[in-house]
Amino acid sequence: MRTENLMEESEVNILHTYNRFPVVLDRGEGVYLYDVEGKKYLDFAAGIAVNALGYHYPGYDEALKEQIDKLMHVSNLYYNEPVIEAGAKLVLASRMSKVFFTNSGTEAIEGALKAAKKYAYTRDGHAGHEIIAMNHSFHGRSIGALAVTGTAHYREPFEPLMGGVRFANFNDLESVKAQITDRTCAIITEVVQGEGGIYPADQEFLEGLRQICDEKDIVLIFDEIQCGMGRTGHYFAWQGYGVKPDVMTCAKALGSGVPVGAFVLNEKLAKSSLEPGDHGTTYGGNPLVCAAVSKVFQIFERDMILAHVQELTPYLEGKLDEIVDNYDCVAGRRGKGFMQGLVIQDRPVGEVINRALENGLLVISAGSDVLRLVPPLVITTEHVDEMIEKLKKSLE
Ligand SMILES: *Cc1c(COP(=O)(O)O)cnc(C)c1O
Repeated sequence: MRTENLMEESEVNILHTYNRFPVVLDRGEGVYLYDVEGKKYLDFAAGIAVNALGYHYPGYDEALKEQIDKLMHVSNLYYNEPVIEAGAKLVLASRMSKVFFTNSGTEAIEGALKAAKKYAYTRDGHAGHEIIAMNHSFHGRSIGALAVTGTAHYREPFEPLMGGVRFANFNDLESVKAQITDRTCAIITEVVQGEGGIYPADQEFLEGLRQICDEKDIVLIFDEIQCGMGRTGHYFAWQGYGVKPDVMTCAKALGSGVPVGAFVLNEKLAKSSLEPGDHGTTYGGNPLVCAAVSKVFQIFERDMILAHVQELTPYLEGKLDEIVDNYDCVAGRRGKGFMQGLVIQDRPVGEVINRALENGLLVISAGSDVLRLVPPLVITTEHVDEMIEKLKKSLE
């Protein structure tokens, strides 16, 4: 009753851009969520790969409350300590050079594209450069990020978008080479495609991109918004490949619950791209969100979150592979670390997800037929077992 009333009220006032699940979430505890009726859910969606530490992780809330009592927002016209500390931690984790904090993933992409364009503009003395992006990629909903998102039906109603974008096929180096012109200034790709259906990059693909970009002085941008911040068992997925980008974007789990993103530049780009006046944000990297970022890095180190993901991944993958072996409607598994997808056949993936919800398990979809599992990074074997039991019930 309560749920239905709230759903109705939501539809009155909130623009209907999401077909939401019929549940009103109320509070979280550990890796569980509770709805307004008191029903408990095991959360293997984590706010779409945001809540890396689950809910009320020891020390996290306290750090934020302390910062609220001190200072929540000041303008970027002034220095503040939380952003200085958060920036140092992100530079250390990425071994890159300089950070710009944003409010979201899509804004991080906008900044990364601007940095690449400005780098080429400075080098060549003129604008008019092109960017190569991948089919089935997802980079966000603002106009620039949408322009490099490789799903035509997301883009079409909003065209003309940012011009000069060419699309190649993910994991197909020849198709990338075919799109290169003397105007190409950047290649942008996820390291593990998320929304497109959980496709990890091949080692040779990333190495090949790095080589092409080195040869032609093209800026290599890795979008780590979903696959970064420990999800693959490394701070950033590219670190597992040993292929370093010139520019990296992150968001989602960066603040593990507060709206914050960032683009991070290597030394070459930091020295010769965006200058005072070229870019800005009112909220980006304010003291509140940066206190969260610093605390997240501190907790990752203190509680060895990356090692935990690496240790538990074989168990999770093994259990999911058993599902693939035992259920005809599950055609395969793809993924890295705690970013896993099961390919569903013979029935809509949405049907399985709705049944999982009824059975007290939150999972989401990716692409047209993939059931996506992006749990908090702090799950244990017991949570994996519970997920598997609930998933089995939902597949029967
Ligand atoms: C979610 C996502 C984005 C967009 O982030 P928002 O915070 O929703 O703007 C961009 N790239 C990837 C890979 C994502 O998963």
